[in-house]
Amino acid sequence: MDLYLGIDFGTSGARAVVIDIGGNIQAEVEEQFKADTQANIWIQMWQETLFSLIKQISQPVRQQIKAIAINGTSSTVLLCDRQGTPVSEPLLYNDGRGVEVLETVKAIAPTNSTVISATSSLVKLLWMSKQDFFPQGCYFLHQADWLAFLLHGKLGISDYHNALKLGYDVERLEYPNWLTNLSVAPLLPQILAPGTAIGEVTAKVSDSLGLPPDCIVCTGTTDSIAAFMASGAKNPGEAVTSLGSTLVLKLLSRTRVEDSRYGIYSHRLGDLWLTGGASNTGGAVLRHFFTDAQLQSLSSEINADKASLLNYYPLLKVGDRFPINDPQLQPRLEPRPDNDVEFLHGLLESIARIEAQGYQLLQQLGADKLTCVYTAGGGAKNATWTRIRDRYLKVPIIQPINTAAAYGTALLAKQIHSN
Ligand code: ADP
Repeated sequence: MDLYLGIDFGTSGARAVVIDIGGNIQAEVEEQFKADTQANIWIQMWQETLFSLIKQISQPVRQQIKAIAINGTSSTVLLCDRQGTPVSEPLLYNDGRGVEVLETVKAIAPTNSTVISATSSLVKLLWMSKQDFFPQGCYFLHQADWLAFLLHGKLGISDYHNALKLGYDVERLEYPNWLTNLSVAPLLPQILAPGTAIGEVTAKVSDSLGLPPDCIVCTGTTDSIAAFMASGAKNPGEAVTSLGSTLVLKLLSRTRVEDSRYGIYSHRLGDLWLTGGASNTGGAVLRHFFTDAQLQSLSSEINADKASLLNYYPLLKVGDRFPINDPQLQPRLEPRPDNDVEFLHGLLESIARIEAQGYQLLQQLGADKLTCVYTAGGGAKNATWTRIRDRYLKVPIIQPINTAAAYGTALLAKQIHSN
């Protein structure tokens, strides 16, 4: 049997999923990162976790793996020497040290570019270029690129999902001139489509991990795109709402939509565009008031078919960007009824309203008409909320069979079969 391995490196641990050609899961393993992790041991820990995850897959399954892909957290980057050894600690996705070069990036990048953020990959590269260790660096890589290198042994390769926040032009499929003119340009990786075969695992990796010598390693993707792909959404108009700590919307579209005012940008997904935005409202506000057990029991008492008249904008602190761009937007959580069932009803209804408003905004800005919504994240299991959302979204809401990023990445590895 031909099998495909997807590996997800998240913020707290890593997970591997092996699927067959029909997309059925044949193996699933997981490992948490050790809690006392200091930044300077990330490298060693990622490497150990990668190898130990693969070794945890039973040998008969491992022997049938035809292709591997890895996803990492977006904008987690590192600088390596000629041999691929990191010359410094990696900069994680949320590392904001680069803020000191943000003005430089603003001056060189086009207005509204996704690189204009204190945590973008390009900002991190330019910050590194000012550090003492920089002259030892030869390759600037994303977490997923470096982990794949450990398996296939080739340096300087990335994919256009990871490279979006590096400034790669995903429409023209090239680095723009303003980027290639920079002194850091020789360190930029070559960019391939996600899921492209890079090469076979090295002989050493094949021997030590019990993988077939002709097992192919592919270019990877980012964690959030992998989670989108896991849902099975693939046609224009299909969307995935993530009801996690925050509310994140992603809508597949034939048109590319970008609007920096709302933090809206699009990733390339084959011939389509994955456009989306994120609101600060979401499960973190629910968790502020209720435990998960309370959310479950109170939700079961809500009459979802009846509209709540409470019109909140649930936030934990001032300001939102999408679908309302207002850094001064005040949390609106009043009036709070004495009855918690009514209060939660108002919260769920208000978040549903913001979700619908978000999809409306994406469509107004040119995205394809919404046809169905898959739901992921902690709130997806709340059937009452689904019925409330149904009244606002007016399209089928689908519970995806798979939501794990590792599963989406395994689907990416499986693509080599059809290429
Ligand atoms: P993240 O990965 O963004 O931290 P998760 O996808 O793990 O978030 O979801 C956690 C969130 O889901 C919490 O903020 C919690 O309030 C919310 N949640 C958990 N159970 C329910 C429920 N039954 N109904 C609605 N929300 C829930």
